[in-house]
Amino acid sequence: MRVHSADIVISAVSKKQYPTDQIPEIALAGRSNVGKSSFINNMIQRKNLARTSQKPGKTQTLNFYIINDAFHFVDVPGYGYAKVSKKERAKWGKMMDEYFGEREQLVSAVLVVDLRHEPTDEDCMMYDYFKYYDLPVTIIATKMDKVKKGKRPAQEKLIREVLEVEEEDPLILFSAETGEGKDEAWKSLRSHLKM
Ligand code: GDP
Repeated sequence: MRVHSADIVISAVSKKQYPTDQIPEIALAGRSNVGKSSFINNMIQRKNLARTSQKPGKTQTLNFYIINDAFHFVDVPGYGYAKVSKKERAKWGKMMDEYFGEREQLVSAVLVVDLRHEPTDEDCMMYDYFKYYDLPVTIIATKMDKVKKGKRPAQEKLIREVLEVEEEDPLILFSAETGEGKDEAWKSLRSHLKM
């Protein structure tokens, strides 16, 4: 996929701020520090467009990026910070429900997990949440450069089993360091964008 343009549209705190265009959207979620920003930046060939981890205490926003004037990536704030207060967690949940419960432009989701580790309970909850909304999910198991080739199949199997990945959802090994998996990831996303 040739990305010729990628820009931030808005960091939205409420639904009033969501873009009104009818172009399709893909939402991206993952545990803080998992490598979600690196995945986005690598996919759209920008060094630093998607900002890295929003630290707890900072305003949590849904960041809308417009790609090739054709579709949006929606970067969902990372989850899994131990230190996040109950109040902040509730706010996060409300923002998620507002978006995922109502957004008609949303066609699919990406869940970024770490190939090295067993998915956490929160990863499982996130996957189940997407499936509750009937979204096709592309699972990106990132940091594959940190796992020896021989160990990758076992890690892949572990992730599939722990998340209980549905047959139709692909799990793609990816590395933001080497770019491996990028073509496969675009292939999956394009199928949902119908491009
Ligand atoms: P985010 O919080 O999920 O957005 O995570 P970041 O994209 O900021 O990545 C967290 C850390 O992991 C950073 O130090 C990245 O350089 C590193 N990282 C992300 N992706 C990869 C990868 O594919 N391979 C390696 N080796 N490091 C990665």
